[in-house]
Amino acid sequence: MAVFNHPSFDNHEHVMFCHDEESGLKAIIAVHNTNLGPAVGGCRMWQYESDEEALTDVLRLSRGMTYKNALAGLSMGGGKSVILADPKTANREALFRAFGRAVDSLGGRYYSAEDVGVSTTDIMIAHQETPYMAGLEGKSGDPSPFTALGTFLGIKAAVKHQRGLDTVKGLKISVQGIGHVGYYLCKHLHEEGAELIVTDINQEALETVKNDFGAIVVAPQDIYTQDVDIYAPCALGASINDHTLPLLKASIVAGCANNQLAERRHGEALKEMGILYAPDYVINAGGIINVSFENEYDAAASTAKVEKIYDTLSTIFKQADEQNRTTGDVADEMARAIINAAK
Ligand code: NAD
Repeated sequence: MAVFNHPSFDNHEHVMFCHDEESGLKAIIAVHNTNLGPAVGGCRMWQYESDEEALTDVLRLSRGMTYKNALAGLSMGGGKSVILADPKTANREALFRAFGRAVDSLGGRYYSAEDVGVSTTDIMIAHQETPYMAGLEGKSGDPSPFTALGTFLGIKAAVKHQRGLDTVKGLKISVQGIGHVGYYLCKHLHEEGAELIVTDINQEALETVKNDFGAIVVAPQDIYTQDVDIYAPCALGASINDHTLPLLKASIVAGCANNQLAERRHGEALKEMGILYAPDYVINAGGIINVSFENEYDAAASTAKVEKIYDTLSTIFKQADEQNRTTGDVADEMARAIINAAK
């Protein structure tokens, strides 16, 4: 398995493979870039098909964190970790203590937090072994409502840019993945009068949004073909790919999932199709912005900073139009300028 020659290797500063025999922990921690400060990014727990798949995920996710933190105006670098295990695994105490010790061994170059398959309870367990954990209970807490708020405002920025509308009222929005973020996002959209079409592989989550927000439920494979204004990917990555692109009827793609484009060229394809894409790491920065207030927590200041996602995206959309470039390229260039200036 190549690391330095891996297609997703992007001059990462540090990639650490961790194993703990007693707990069975298998994890990879990637510190992408620390120009702006210590690397911060969540820990994902997933039953990967292979070690290679886990490595690809952590390399891509950690790079995304560097760009996300830079464009969100945070003094933090980018990193991420993955635990290779079934997210429903029972042995959490031993596993997350071992993970905490692995993070601790980096001496503060990397701070972890929750991500898919990991809860704040897990992070509290890891915190018993290391101070380098963020999103702690009693401090900034669950980042998901802030990610949802930023995503909601990002959707509004896209609607304003493309249609000149100040509201999502009456628009049809498909949401893929009703997890921690997806639920709160549906709440915002419903409260403003959007019509929701949702899917998930978890029936319980679907029942809740059906009852709470009158959402229409469709099967996972049918979410792409829905006749909607906006498609919001809020599950896992790579949902914009060669297979799904021709199926899309939405004119806006804006959701909270990380790494939505299977490959960079899919951003070009969206542009060619006239679909406005809100770059994932810009629209989903709300949670990490909230985490950045961890030490002296101030919910109002955090919310105000999350609200800036609307302006950042509006600037990106405008520049992309003016320069006839993809929104992703414009965002990357803006982020790189900030990262390089801090070198
Ligand atoms: P989550 O695990 O709580 O929710 C993900 C949901 O997607 C689950 O309900 C799961 O059942 C569902 N799902 C998985 N595969 C699916 C499929 N094929 N079809 C339909 N549904 C499927 O995770 P979350 O915290 O809500 O995060 C969602 C996404 O947003 C992830 O990509 C995550 O990396 C990203 N994100 C989350 C945060 C945060 O604050 N939690 C911040 C930034 C980015």
